[in-house]
Amino acid sequence: MIPVKGYKGQKVAVLGLGRSGLATAAALRAGGAEPLLWDDSPEARARAEAEGFACTDLTRQGVLEGAACLVTSPGIPHLYPQPNRVIARALELGVPVDNDIGLFFRSFGSADWDDFETPPKVVCVTGSNGKSTTTALIHHILQVAGRPTQMAGNIGKGVLSIDPPRDGEVVVLELSSYQTDLARALTPDVAVFTNLSPDHLDRHAGMGGYFAAKRRLFAEGGPDRAVVGVDEVEGRFMANQLAMGPGDDRVIRISSGQKLEGFGWSVFARKGFLAEWRRGKQVASIDLRGVAGLPGAHNHQNACAAYAACRALGVAPKLIEGAFHSFAGLPHRSQLVGEKGGVRFINDSKATNVDSAAKALQAFPRIRWIAGGMGKDGGLKGIGPFLDSVVKAYLIGHSARDFALQIGDTPHEICETMARAVARAAAEAESGDVVLLAPAAASFDQYPNFEKRGDDFTAQVKALIGALIG
Ligand code: ADP
Repeated sequence: MIPVKGYKGQKVAVLGLGRSGLATAAALRAGGAEPLLWDDSPEARARAEAEGFACTDLTRQGVLEGAACLVTSPGIPHLYPQPNRVIARALELGVPVDNDIGLFFRSFGSADWDDFETPPKVVCVTGSNGKSTTTALIHHILQVAGRPTQMAGNIGKGVLSIDPPRDGEVVVLELSSYQTDLARALTPDVAVFTNLSPDHLDRHAGMGGYFAAKRRLFAEGGPDRAVVGVDEVEGRFMANQLAMGPGDDRVIRISSGQKLEGFGWSVFARKGFLAEWRRGKQVASIDLRGVAGLPGAHNHQNACAAYAACRALGVAPKLIEGAFHSFAGLPHRSQLVGEKGGVRFINDSKATNVDSAAKALQAFPRIRWIAGGMGKDGGLKGIGPFLDSVVKAYLIGHSARDFALQIGDTPHEICETMARAVARAAAEAESGDVVLLAPAAASFDQYPNFEKRGDDFTAQVKALIGALIG
């Protein structure tokens, strides 16, 4: 645990008692603060009480007035569509609002680092898609390189739950836009921006707010190296703003598809090959075509991002290449869960938005596509050009009928449930087809989270075909 500094003897309000809220409470207490905990859900309060914390109703008149800070969880709106009422009250009172990421950056450095040979470093990964894969891949490469490393944030444990860093440790954090929007301190050594496509627009009042939230990681933190995906105009704009000029190698531009040769430092993947260029010369190349854990152009983008971050930390290209091959990939992201009669079943339950689903649809030639759930703002807008590979769509959940209208002439069937969708797709599939779960929607209408949705898909596949792999 990282004890929170700067609040000794002071009251700090904590709103939201999920995993990160409880970890924050423990870290505040370890740092000598007095946490005042609240969650609107009685079940969450009961869990906190079972862990030995008392709860204090932060909505009661007068309670927030005495707090030095209000720390909130990422799931709680702090601005749009409208702030939670406790946060709104803190804003009225001028009580600073922060999150566990802000507390982490304030508390991470420590006096015993003076005895370290190499001070610990923090790498942060943000972007619309590929964050988890890139974060896990950086962590994996560092492990293979024999560097002490821990991974946290949106993936695995909360940031304040990590162990105090060792000599030379690299902490790799996955950060969502909700987290970067609110943190009052953001000082990574290396920051990574994978890509940008519409998501969570209600929480950011549109695309501009969403981009601005991610951009804070770079603008506020001033990282030593910024790894920036330039496949969208927002990334190109940010790289342009961060660099003194094209030759400035504090910015490493990355791309999946574009040749980026004229910059101080760049890493790009084209036709299955990753290339690193520095000051007008190619310095390394890696064949990604046989890397089983990173299939598809979107994963090649993640490979470029992780490669660049690790190069910024001084890891050698050959070592990174070897680590690519031993990377197993993450569950629920383009994960092969079964195969029978030449039909492959792929679980990409994490494809919760149109862009990530479109990437999955580009990765295979003949797809029986299971989609639907809790559709996002704009539904399937923009999916049109990617439907050529879809033989038939099997639509589930709340947005099934809405999606049916949006995919026009593409053959489809309303299946409502996962069980029916898997059964129908499997019954109609021919050898060479891929039955792909890539919902382009959130899971909350039918499941607690995308993991449970992916587990259900996997269980249905398993029940149907018996033999499971992976
Ligand atoms: P995040 O943590 O940003 O949600 P993940 O690595 O968990 O990213 O991947 C989320 C979804 O996006 C998965 O469906 C995955 O297959 C897809 N995906 C992964 N990397 C990319 C990328 N670079 N661009 C677009 N989609 C991606």
